Amino acid sequence: MSSSVPVHEVTDRDNVSTTTTDSSSRLSEEHDEQRKRKRADLPSEAIASSSICHKVDTEEEEAKRLKKMTDACNTILECIGENPNREGLLKTPERWAKALLFMTQGYRQTAQEVVNDAVFSADSHKEIVVVRDIDIHSMCEHHMLPFTGRIHVGYIPNGKIIGLSKIARIAEVFSRRLQVQERLTREITDAIEEAVSPLGVAVVIESSHFCMVMRGVQKVGAKTITSCVRGCFEANPKTRAEFFNLINGRPLSI
Ligand SMILES: [Zn+2]
Repeated sequence: MSSSVPVHEVTDRDNVSTTTTDSSSRLSEEHDEQRKRKRADLPSEAIASSSICHKVDTEEEEAKRLKKMTDACNTILECIGENPNREGLLKTPERWAKALLFMTQGYRQTAQEVVNDAVFSADSHKEIVVVRDIDIHSMCEHHMLPFTGRIHVGYIPNGKIIGLSKIARIAEVFSRRLQVQERLTREITDAIEEAVSPLGVAVVIESSHFCMVMRGVQKVGAKTITSCVRGCFEANPKTRAEFFNLINGRPLSI
């Protein structure tokens, strides 16, 4: 069930556990209206953030960026008391720069690109679709230290469904940026709403922040859990409870 493979290596079939079940949710146009109203309440930058379009660098720009980051890393090594010229560190600045660019590659991708038209008509399916236990690796914007964990997504289609691996790819786009977990949760929710305009969508992230583990309060076991629920998940406690039951791995109790 839980995926131990990195998200970018997986396919529709085996990446994530998926649960589709009958729902006793009351699906109505009223919920759709609530969803739309909720979206209208959001600040415009919150909506725009999920559709940021980043330009693609030329090779020359890419090389310049790498050189700048490598120089900066040499400075940091000096500042912490290291000798950047000792053998073990000679290639470290460039390696670090490349690693950081990889870990922040979400700045150079958009949710629309990764969804890439993998949205299909499904008029008859109006039950909860849950994709859970998607691994995420992100970096907190306050300390630029990693936070890692799992994300669970549920939605109720309203005529359209999204390719299942695309949900993991959307999570990847937004987690590969400097983040706070609260915003990451909301951005993934927004992107799924934008992709399929569902009757409801719910996203839960549970993660461990290295800025709490390795510094500050140094609490190893602490987990941060955030959730964002929209539409019928917000309006209907039964639907919401069904989602939380499904992501907790318990049998359906409704
Ligand atoms: Zn932090």
